[in-house]
Amino acid sequence: MSAIRLFGLPTDINSSFERGAAAGPAAIRAELRSERGNLASELGPEIGTDIAFCDDGDLPLVEDTPRDDAMIRRHVALVHGNGEIPIALGGDHAVSFPLIAATAERFGPLNILHIDAHPDLYDDFGGNPRSHASPFARICEAGHAARLVQVGIRTMNSHCRAQAARFGVEVVPMAAFVPETVPVLDGPLYISIDLDGLDPSAAPGVAHPEPGGLTVRELIAVLHRQRAPIVGADIVEYNPSRDVGGVTAIVGAKLVRELAALIDRNGAAGH
Ligand code: MN
Ligand code: MN
Repeated sequence: MSAIRLFGLPTDINSSFERGAAAGPAAIRAELRSERGNLASELGPEIGTDIAFCDDGDLPLVEDTPRDDAMIRRHVALVHGNGEIPIALGGDHAVSFPLIAATAERFGPLNILHIDAHPDLYDDFGGNPRSHASPFARICEAGHAARLVQVGIRTMNSHCRAQAARFGVEVVPMAAFVPETVPVLDGPLYISIDLDGLDPSAAPGVAHPEPGGLTVRELIAVLHRQRAPIVGADIVEYNPSRDVGGVTAIVGAKLVRELAALIDRNGAAGH
């Protein structure tokens, strides 16, 4: 059984429209610790009690993308070197590139389950190839994805459709969505959750809300169907300045518990 290590990545310099996601990790962590809820997961175990779980706090990022990427990659390598599994809190979605790159360096090309309203496949966005609209283009180009399955996508344009075809991305249609349409992936599995994949009624605290998204119940069902060893996960794009009553932070904290319990249930990959 692998211990789980949580850490925050307080950066939003690669956000294309509105900053604020840098404040996300602290707000999700506060809800995780809050007596408003407990540390139970729907799979049964409590994190920190039944599952070894530690929180490193936030990495001291400096808002310089190459230096921050190097710091993120070093931290992921350290966590894996301890035989532990990382769960990262964003921050904007650009952080998934160094997270996944470092994970793939250790485990080889990954099967990636990506939850998002947006495919994040832009070759560049606004002249920034490291935009939060581009991480999965960079990940695919680098050969880090054995399979990339995207769930929740409802903003596909012609450029991203061409990019998805070029990279062989599997996009699960949102029309008539049921969790059973999502492929059950082999390991090593990486899970990246952009909170705007959820419907804005469930997760309003994001920079790019898009109606017609997943319910929390559907997302948990998608997660619980996955049975492969998980080698890393992230929850990104929480923007507290857009939230309503902290409900999105509460969802983020619940997803930390569900991911931790899923990592524990699915068991270790060979390190
Ligand atoms: Mn998104
Ligand atoms: Mn995204």
